[in-house]
Amino acid sequence: MEAMVLVINCGSSSLKVALFDTSLNKLAAGLAERIGGPDAFASLTGTRDTLPLATNAGHKEALQTLIDALRAQGLLREAPVAIGHRVVHGGETFREAALINNPVLSAIHECASLAPLHNPVNLVGIEATRELFPGVSQVAVFDTAFHQTLPDYAYRYALPERLYKDWGVRRYGFHGTSHSFMASETARLLNQSPETTSIISAHLGNGCSITAIRDGASVDTSMGLTPLEGLVMGTRSGDIDPGLFDFLRSKGINAEDLHRLLNHDSGLLGLSGETNDMRSLCELAEQGHEASALAIEVFCFRLARYIAAMMASLTRLDALVFTGGIGENSALVRSKTLAHLSLVGLSLDAERNRDHGKQREYRIESGDSRFRILVIPTNEERVIASEALTIARSGASH
Ligand code: ADP
Repeated sequence: MEAMVLVINCGSSSLKVALFDTSLNKLAAGLAERIGGPDAFASLTGTRDTLPLATNAGHKEALQTLIDALRAQGLLREAPVAIGHRVVHGGETFREAALINNPVLSAIHECASLAPLHNPVNLVGIEATRELFPGVSQVAVFDTAFHQTLPDYAYRYALPERLYKDWGVRRYGFHGTSHSFMASETARLLNQSPETTSIISAHLGNGCSITAIRDGASVDTSMGLTPLEGLVMGTRSGDIDPGLFDFLRSKGINAEDLHRLLNHDSGLLGLSGETNDMRSLCELAEQGHEASALAIEVFCFRLARYIAAMMASLTRLDALVFTGGIGENSALVRSKTLAHLSLVGLSLDAERNRDHGKQREYRIESGDSRFRILVIPTNEERVIASEALTIARSGASH
């Protein structure tokens, strides 16, 4: 029986699992949603059966249900050799993935004040997994770790130093597993060494961020203390004028309302008034829905500004890379974004951009573009599986 690696991504009301073999081929995946609610359910990808979850079921029961289903399918006969967890915030403590032990758990707990919506639930997932698979090596892979190489002038905000010293207020950056995967995949595709590869990586999914990577290391990124800063996202505003806080307070909007407004009611959803989903927005815009068309324009313009801004951190550029659901699939977003960037010498080949995916072509720049432009599918779960396996093996040999 071949050894397996399990990857777990625990959200506030959801839990995703993925199962890999030790050659990092994905064997199965499953999802539990609306955990804690009356219509909670779980299902394995590729099967039609939904597995009901009790209303009072927590993350542990959801995980148990998914594991039982994997076992029933004959996919998981023995305990995995390693389990990788996505953990959102590693603060300044974690520069790389870590084998989970009690000191590491305490440190993740300490980082929770920086990510109160994410780290506590990540810890719940780790505890549940520990109970289900006692003795199996578990590894925490942090969204922030890849960005710990940012220079101080890129991570510090122009705020009084005590906010940084006392409370850790600084830019941390997120989507680190995806951006680091873009750097290594670009190096592989261009047949270069990762240590000498410099790219701008645009991860455009429901959350969106962009990172400048110089010689394999993250040197600037658009998300900040929290995943709210930077690009326009599905429901998040990205950058806004901080003066808005005072203004809205004068209108009677309190801190809780503000949080909801900026995190859940803004971005593509707020601008369009219809949806946070880029594919639906493109359809609406085509049917003449003006607010949806404007949402796409704002998204692309902000992205173009950030692509240009990322150049300030680089001395060479091997490629601009698009990934994530929008980056990989929306030729319209890529072309509208690049239309703002002719002055910096980035230009698309219209046909390659449109046909990308059909011909599995990953290069989409025109012949006269100063820089390459690539589309690369992201695979965060695989990166987590790979790190978990490496660290579990090196931990076992110590
Ligand atoms: P998540 O961040 O949740 O992993 P994804 O990376 O799957 O999200 O990205 C989801 C986004 O990708 C949605 O806005 C979706 O509409 C968009 N998307 C997927 N396919 C297309 C497409 N063909 N055209 C435009 N947008 C697309």
